Amino acid sequence: MTDIHALLNRSVFIPLYDLKERNHRLRHVRDIEMFNALSRDTLETEQWRNLKNMLEHAYENVPYYRRAYRQAGISPDDIHAPMDMVKLPTLTRQDIRVHGGELLADGVVQNTLVESGTGGTISSPITIYLSPECMDLRLAATIAFNKWFGYELGDKAVLFWGAAQDFPKLDGIHAVKSKVRNFLTSRIRWMPTSYLDDPIMAEYYEQLQTYKPAVIQAYPTPLYLFAKFMAEHNLSYRPKTITVAAEPMYDYQREMIESVFQCKVFDWYGSRELGHMASECRLHNGLHINAHHLFVEVISGGKQVYDSEGTLVVTDLRNEAMPLIRYEIGDVGVISKRLCSCGSALPILEHVSGRLVDTFLTRSGGCVPGVALTNRIIKDCRGIEQMQIVQRDFELFTIRIVKGKAFSENTLTTLNAALRAYFKTDVNVEHEFVSSIPLEKSGKSRFCICEMGQTAGSISPH
Ligand SMILES: [Zn+2]
Repeated sequence: MTDIHALLNRSVFIPLYDLKERNHRLRHVRDIEMFNALSRDTLETEQWRNLKNMLEHAYENVPYYRRAYRQAGISPDDIHAPMDMVKLPTLTRQDIRVHGGELLADGVVQNTLVESGTGGTISSPITIYLSPECMDLRLAATIAFNKWFGYELGDKAVLFWGAAQDFPKLDGIHAVKSKVRNFLTSRIRWMPTSYLDDPIMAEYYEQLQTYKPAVIQAYPTPLYLFAKFMAEHNLSYRPKTITVAAEPMYDYQREMIESVFQCKVFDWYGSRELGHMASECRLHNGLHINAHHLFVEVISGGKQVYDSEGTLVVTDLRNEAMPLIRYEIGDVGVISKRLCSCGSALPILEHVSGRLVDTFLTRSGGCVPGVALTNRIIKDCRGIEQMQIVQRDFELFTIRIVKGKAFSENTLTTLNAALRAYFKTDVNVEHEFVSSIPLEKSGKSRFCICEMGQTAGSISPH
């Protein structure tokens, strides 16, 4: 059935609202969609031009880069191709914390900028400032990629979300304004997931039934728990689409969510620092990078690598007010040069394996991405509902386990064998049985923790 309200929103209320707010996001959506439809060669040429412009702008107008590049004896003239980017120093969270003011371009007036704070799940938060133009572009990218998911502007949505700072502050006149704006334009209902139990999930299910959202946007772990609750109580609800972000999604979570809600799940990757970074297309085989806004490198051993694991280093091509060039976002992932058969030539981020600090280390200098390991173990070991693996030393682990119905002594034997296979050595494992894995303060779940003092920045995808 056509949702008349959604149609009115798209064609009347949203364009009027944007006009009033002098917001150019709808024009930007068209630009981004045209860019996303370019051939690989053309979009790489365009991206390279934007990258060069940003480097030159930063070198000429941003005190931090002027100093850092001069100290390193390098200038944008030394960067002849994207592969030369490795010659430039990276930017860490710590650099932003210490030199934040120096990262603002000359002549920029701070109170005209939009603040985007990070969640600071591991270390203290940092603030990124965006020009209003860049903010519009980010909103536009979200709208353009949401369309890939079947999420049209103005659709009713529920947000099954853990990060409290994303919720609108509803007090006094702001409450009224926010409610009106929400009704006319975004129509989002928020369902906080930083704490979930059966009565809360029963209440959320009631809300689904009465509100009837077309879209569910969620963190994968709470949505998985909610889907499991629905399956156990024989409940059903079928939205038009589901999108997840903010945590790595495990195969078993995707399977459960898709089977309970009878619809496909689209994974996307974003951060407060860099906005909408990458999205799954209809083929659900890797994520397309938002190359209109970003240049993404995966670095291992000081080199750009493809088809193998490394740390993600990202350059923002659009935020001229506070350029982030070669920013170490603190995540590990894989990019490739393959073309996706969906028709979009945007580069592919095969997967994000999680935060650098959620990657385990081997004595030989290798690393084992936590997500891959947990995925394998949950698949192989019947009887584990959820678990959290903590690496305390190379061969020393604590594993917290939420037992499932099929749990037996065999489960632990298989689990230990899987760890031995991954780490290629005997491992010492201490098991702790718990009733649930506690959430982080940010509302996110962490299933893999390496306590061996890696020096990663922290990541806070939305
Ligand atoms: Zn594709």
